[in-house]
Amino acid sequence: MLYFSHPACLLHDPGEGLPGHPERPERLAAIEAALAGREWLGWERREAPRASEEELTLVHPRQHVDAIRELCEQGGGAIDVDTYAGEASWEAALRSAGAACAMTRALVAGEAKVGFSAGRPPGHHAEPSRAMGFCLFDNVAVAAALAIAELGVERVFVLDWDVHHGNGTAEIFRRRDDVLFASIHQGGIFPGSGRREDTGSGPGEGFTINCPVAAGSEEGEWMELLEVEILPAAARFEPQLVLISAGFDAHREDPLAECRLEAASFGRMAAAVRVAAEGWGAPVGAVLEGGYALPALAESVVATMSALAGTD
Ligand SMILES: [Zn+2]
Repeated sequence: MLYFSHPACLLHDPGEGLPGHPERPERLAAIEAALAGREWLGWERREAPRASEEELTLVHPRQHVDAIRELCEQGGGAIDVDTYAGEASWEAALRSAGAACAMTRALVAGEAKVGFSAGRPPGHHAEPSRAMGFCLFDNVAVAAALAIAELGVERVFVLDWDVHHGNGTAEIFRRRDDVLFASIHQGGIFPGSGRREDTGSGPGEGFTINCPVAAGSEEGEWMELLEVEILPAAARFEPQLVLISAGFDAHREDPLAECRLEAASFGRMAAAVRVAAEGWGAPVGAVLEGGYALPALAESVVATMSALAGTD
């Protein structure tokens, strides 16, 4: 079990330009305090390298990468009403994407069967040419694209259980049949995409699964979508690598949405994914996305990592 992060990910602070921003450094600090208090659950910790420009440009045009770097170099600023990059955000963004890439390299190399990439800023809302929704680069998409472009992986299953639709990841892979993207998210909230009828386009038709749920939905509904719809579809896809866009804002205490999961719910979803992936012979890597109620976030990460390791 491998855990990737970097201290630079604690220095990205959207509150500098957008006061009271929920995506704050304390999120990662809370996760790491909870893990440290449990001897890191026996996981090996590794420092994330910087993602290279070659890695980032697997899914983002060079102009987008340059624009984010120039904004940070010039002292930073708000990109939209809820997305910010400051001077320290460039290094954080490189380490956040780099954590997902390094985890993916290690998993594909067989160094571990499960991994967790704890980076900030998060990634799944970042579209190819547009930072949005607290996200600058789409970390999980960069990692999935890396696995296929450079590591010899032919099929990647990306499961996005963040309460918000992973519009960036969906957009990046919507025309591809080598990445199966499945998302469970609260319908009708940010970013507004992810309708059930959207199943991909062109050669990617059928390789996008959107499962919107209503406000107030509980674990049972999420587990049913996962076990009855998503995992059987993933089994037919025969993935060689599983990446989880692991947001924890479907927790009942989260201030940004109205779903009613508990920390243990994320553990149960992770366990179901782990068992399925074992059957496929595929390693599983989770990449941190959202989650804004600090104790709930930390407990949910602990539950997820414990379940991935099979020590829950
Ligand atoms: Zn979210």
